[in-house]
Amino acid sequence: MIIAGRVDLDDLPRICPLLCRKTNPRYGEGQTRAVQVGRVRFGGERPVVIAGPCAVESREQTLEIARAVKGSGADMLRGGAYKPRTSPHDFQGLGLEGLKILREASQETGLPVVTEVMDVRLVEQVADYADMLQVGSRNMQNYPLLVEVGRSRRPVLLKRGMAASLSEWLGAAEYIAKEGNLEIVLCERGIKAYPSGEYSRYSLDLSVIPAVRAETYLPVIVDPSHATGVAAMVESASRAAIEFGSHGLIIEVASDRLDAVKPKCDAAQAISPRTLRRIIHFIETRQEHLAENVHVASA
Ligand code: PEP
Ligand code: MN
Repeated sequence: MIIAGRVDLDDLPRICPLLCRKTNPRYGEGQTRAVQVGRVRFGGERPVVIAGPCAVESREQTLEIARAVKGSGADMLRGGAYKPRTSPHDFQGLGLEGLKILREASQETGLPVVTEVMDVRLVEQVADYADMLQVGSRNMQNYPLLVEVGRSRRPVLLKRGMAASLSEWLGAAEYIAKEGNLEIVLCERGIKAYPSGEYSRYSLDLSVIPAVRAETYLPVIVDPSHATGVAAMVESASRAAIEFGSHGLIIEVASDRLDAVKPKCDAAQAISPRTLRRIIHFIETRQEHLAENVHVASA
């Protein structure tokens, strides 16, 4: 029986010929195409850590967290100026003002910045301020938006739709690639799988990481913050993601000062700069061990 519209991984050469390994044998087995954002390289030896607030809420809050994540060893800054919120009555982000704050924080710390663009009419505006454009989970299949970011001059962080199959996710990435923009980093951020929502926000799909690496040459990172929704789970989810082959992490961080204002969004999943430091330390130590083992093996 053939089901109309059915897709599986065997269909990838048809769905995403530009991006899948089978149709691009020049990328050897396990070889990843590096995506460069300023001095930061996704898909290289060292996993990349992006960190920052969920949303840009004020200049003070953003600068404080930017300095803190820089101090913890992060490679890039995150923060939403345009926020996709479940309720239209909730804080929607500071918009253009938020982009200007991000630029300032980036200039001061030297960290390149990634921020979400939700609206096809705002791609140019966001690209003027950001080093990398984020397409969020809710917009993974917003095809006009994918085409527009594909035409932009910025690298793109493409989050996985919360109910998207791997074929659908790679098909979405192909829309960006088809416009000539191959600077794409994929991001697993948790999927809706029964019973997610009860004890974690989504279900972190660790097994998709080796699958992504097997099927495409694009780098893939993990968002342990939205995947779990629980600050206490972020560190172990981060370590697990790295062990599964993730090329990096994107993590939400909030100030741990006692008198700090509680974040307006996603406060329950924000970790402290100190926990971020531990995660980065784990990555660095692991890298050193790997390098030593290679050294010993080749001696
Ligand atoms: C975000 O990273 O700010 C975000 C809203 O994530 P997602 O699109 O994965 O929900
Ligand atoms: Mn968030």
